[in-house]
Amino acid sequence: MALNDKYEAVIGLEVHAQLATNSKLFCGDSTSFGAAPNTHISPITMGHPGTLPKTNRKAVEYAIRMGLACNCEIEKDNYFARKNYFYPDLPKGYQVSQHTTPICKGGYITIHTAAGERKVQLNRIHMEEDAGKSIHDLDDQFTCIDLNRAGTPLVEIVTEPDLFSAEEAWQYVTEVRRLVRWIGICDGNMEEGSLRCDANVSIRLKGETRLGTKVEVKNLNSIRNVKKAIGYEIERMIALVENGGKVQQQTRGFNASNDTTFAIRDKEEANDYRYFPDPDLAPFHLTDAFIKEIGAGLPALPNALIETYQTQYGLNEYDAKHLCDEKETADYFNRVINYTTHYKAAANWILGPVRQYLNENNTGFAELTISPALLAELIQLVEDGKVNFSIATAKLFPLMMSEKGSPLAIAERLNLIQVNDTNELESWINDTLQSMPGKVSEYKKGKKGLIGLFMGDIKKRSKGKADPKIVTILLEQKLND
Ligand code: ADP
Ligand code: MG
Repeated sequence: MALNDKYEAVIGLEVHAQLATNSKLFCGDSTSFGAAPNTHISPITMGHPGTLPKTNRKAVEYAIRMGLACNCEIEKDNYFARKNYFYPDLPKGYQVSQHTTPICKGGYITIHTAAGERKVQLNRIHMEEDAGKSIHDLDDQFTCIDLNRAGTPLVEIVTEPDLFSAEEAWQYVTEVRRLVRWIGICDGNMEEGSLRCDANVSIRLKGETRLGTKVEVKNLNSIRNVKKAIGYEIERMIALVENGGKVQQQTRGFNASNDTTFAIRDKEEANDYRYFPDPDLAPFHLTDAFIKEIGAGLPALPNALIETYQTQYGLNEYDAKHLCDEKETADYFNRVINYTTHYKAAANWILGPVRQYLNENNTGFAELTISPALLAELIQLVEDGKVNFSIATAKLFPLMMSEKGSPLAIAERLNLIQVNDTNELESWINDTLQSMPGKVSEYKKGKKGLIGLFMGDIKKRSKGKADPKIVTILLEQKLND
């Protein structure tokens, strides 16, 4: 029996998402990334005596948005607590957090894996402030500390131990990133640390219901690393147990240079953080009306939209899913179909030439100068057989980008409109057939595959303007006379 059939991995993820507010959780300091070190640090961020923090309403709204998007129960009576510990990048000597009294409880996030769709159960989503940054590699002798990030609002999204493979964890984080971006609460940028993940991993024998001892791999800063670190941990633990060892409860780090994990510290006795409600911050009560208003402001969520695209617009699952990879794509599609009922063609255009153009030019839908109405017009030209698809993508589309003009006007000006006038078509057909009499007689003797050769030659003579549907009919008539 393969070892992976003998053991089962159990994983719980803690994802920190930096909320996209302009200012910090308890004061007006800017949260912008990349400023000169220690320039966004008012006395409140520094926790100077006598300063009075205030809760950022937008941050609370964002946390509720996430909770509603994840089907959580929203706690109406909230307060913040101080989690006391010493660390150089923690200026106040405590972190303000909702660790024990989260604003969102329960809920789930749906993931799609090869095995199908599954709801990953959440334990909670709570708010807390971020710490500053210790930078160890800038100086030979000293650790540098940048406190700009201290006090930035975060939500921590904590799952139940309800993921069972590195692949599922990868899908889950991918989904979290799409969701936070979709509802606009976090830019989801893992390289800049806007989204960070700690992975708790344990193994147990298949069939066992109790949880095994867990290891926590801290600070995974890309989705790929989440998958690699978990994969490595599972293998390491299985090998350890198979060799008679025992998993130690540990905090570990991930070494991205060789895709392994390493021990940081053994989990000692539970830390005593001496939590107590922050006396400087007023508890806050959320009314039903406030929560409802936030819910009403949420956009249609990706999974619901994928469903709508299939049931209402007849798209296949592949197209529906990919249109929902990012909200900008779905938004653009939604606008295009205000102007056309060729839904499938609209999906093809957006997932094909439009996306390709955006990728090649390293840009996004915000920079797309073709309005949804003009793209719909282009789709209509192709559907009506006025312009063929390859001319539309290769010539018209780029010109529409640079000129922002109507595709019909451009096509007429450049003489790209497909010819469906039979006289003109017949003259190209005759030229072609006269130029290769040998092939024509072979065709007549039964070599029907030669039709492609004739079609190709006609296309060349007409510079792509001959309407292939009509040409096929006329050509077959002539050859079978
Ligand atoms: P801690 O107090 O060590 O942070 P928590 O109980 O708060 O532990 O859980 C943190 C995360 O670890 C959660 O996502 C939880 O689902 C997960 N977790 C807890 N126990 C296990 C386990 N034995 N195996 C895998 N994940 C676990
Ligand atoms: Mg933890």
